[in-house]
Amino acid sequence: MKVTVFGIGYVGLVQAAVMAEVGHDVVCVDVDQNKVDRLKQGHIPIYEPGLTPLVNSNYEAGRVDFTIDAARGVAHGEVIFIAVGTPPDEDGSADLKYVLSVAKTVAEHMDSHKIIINKSTVPVGTADKVSAKVTETLASLGKELTFDVVSNPEFLKEGAAVNDCMRPDRIIIGTESESAEKKLRELYSPFNRNHDKIIVMDIRSAELTKYAANCMLATKISFMNEMANLAELMGADIENVRRGIGSDPRIGYQFIYPGCGYGGSCFPKDVQALVRSATGVGYNARVLEAVEAVNYAQKEKLFEYIMRHFGGDVKGKTVAIWGLSFKPNTDDMREASSRVLMESLWEAGAKVKAYDPEAMEETQRIYGSRDDLNLVGTKESALDGADFLVICTEWQAFRAPDFELIKQKLATPLIFDGRNLFEPNMMLEYGLHYYAIGRGLSV
Ligand code: NAD
Repeated sequence: MKVTVFGIGYVGLVQAAVMAEVGHDVVCVDVDQNKVDRLKQGHIPIYEPGLTPLVNSNYEAGRVDFTIDAARGVAHGEVIFIAVGTPPDEDGSADLKYVLSVAKTVAEHMDSHKIIINKSTVPVGTADKVSAKVTETLASLGKELTFDVVSNPEFLKEGAAVNDCMRPDRIIIGTESESAEKKLRELYSPFNRNHDKIIVMDIRSAELTKYAANCMLATKISFMNEMANLAELMGADIENVRRGIGSDPRIGYQFIYPGCGYGGSCFPKDVQALVRSATGVGYNARVLEAVEAVNYAQKEKLFEYIMRHFGGDVKGKTVAIWGLSFKPNTDDMREASSRVLMESLWEAGAKVKAYDPEAMEETQRIYGSRDDLNLVGTKESALDGADFLVICTEWQAFRAPDFELIKQKLATPLIFDGRNLFEPNMMLEYGLHYYAIGRGLSV
């Protein structure tokens, strides 16, 4: 099938690559000429396991191409994905300017029926706005053409995006059009072989499903962080509590890890956006407001532990940080907890010496060159000349480090662990002073 994808980001690029891999003929359109040029030279703009060979092999085979030529993109696809960003507006609501700009572009260039599939995460009612934009643009150009707008939210997880798109848990199709549904069933049939994963529903429910999923996941995290904070104050160990509650199948073990807060491009913005949408329909989303507030506070947690330990003064200290990305297996730094920590440390006069397996280039791009940030090539070299260690991201490579070496290299044998990677008793045996989340203030 001829497929066009507008937006070559985490969602658009991965979706395009897996569509090409199963044999669809894909053209990707972006406004970023540099990104398009580099992709054609084999440079993949993001880190995602398995993505580089997938994109490059499909590009070489001619199944996927990249362009900034929107007219070519619109002419190519019988189905057209919108996969552009929906960043938070000033008040936290989703900014639809990129989505609506693509809708206008599609209308300007189309000369036959198109199925416009919205993959971006957008508030309920956006499909109506996209339809209105296309209708209005077509009318202004005197074109009489038909089109469908379908809601087809994306559920991929960064760090496992290729696998998630190849083997989705579910494929939500929001449409009332039988012909559009038939076309999307055909488009997705290579990903729907094991059992039927397609769930067809009305457009508004499909739009809300995406927010409900992300808000539920964010709620689980903030809930566990609240329990961790209580455990700390009450002298309990959240790891025992986690195992204790996870054994109830109604709760389950997944996604109940406490830590130094959630980040990324989705949870923070989607919780905020649903809170604002709720206000728009006269509803006060109290649970979601609390989820956001708890997370905001949780991101300050590591800095609070550090300040408490040092009596409020870290001026002149050098802090080793392991992990900068908002979660493992990605280079995405959007809303990462490490950023909140680093910015607080800098404000307090400390220096940072940091290592991340994939996010160093992105960190450099965000913060540029500064005297108080030193990005180094290995986790061990981050310890050289550092006063203590902080862990912000649970990369696998941090799970079993050489504790003797850590102790030997740090000026103070002290670890602040925002991801609860180690056992406090083991740290005690190694003679390391260890702070974790919800496991007792220190051992
Ligand atoms: P991104 O910022 O990585 O990429 C967006 C791309 O769109 C950029 O390359 C940008 O240049 C391009 N773009 C902007 N305007 C354009 C236009 N008019 N025409 C063509 N391209 C244009 O964004 P992302 O992380 O891929 O997210 C895209 C959407 O998918 C968002 O709504 C997001 O909430 C949603 N989503 C993201 C994830 C995720 O894990 N990143 C998962 C599910 C859903």
